[in-house]
Amino acid sequence: MIQWIEYDPKNPPKVNEEYIVSDGRYVDVARICDYFDELRWYPPDRSQIEELFITHYAEINLPDVEPCEVCGKMVAVDRKYKIVTCEDESCILRVQRSLGGEGT
Ligand SMILES: [Zn+2]
Repeated sequence: MIQWIEYDPKNPPKVNEEYIVSDGRYVDVARICDYFDELRWYPPDRSQIEELFITHYAEINLPDVEPCEVCGKMVAVDRKYKIVTCEDESCILRVQRSLGGEGT
């Protein structure tokens, strides 16, 4: 689900970053830059979206993906956790065991 944010030039997103943008009909990726103190969107050259018609943007937040440390399956990673495992119970158990020692 894309979290669209209405573009407000008075409250713009962080400049020099790329965002998913839309004019209400098409969707593309554009960079917002400070052009001589004027904020401008830079969609790709062949975009169907024109810079001035961009009304909404969204942050690009693809999940980080890494292999599960036990089975190697690629899984989305939450950076809070240092250990990467898939949802598989045997993988989770095996990592818990290696962390917690014999006790648990
Ligand atoms: Zn696994």
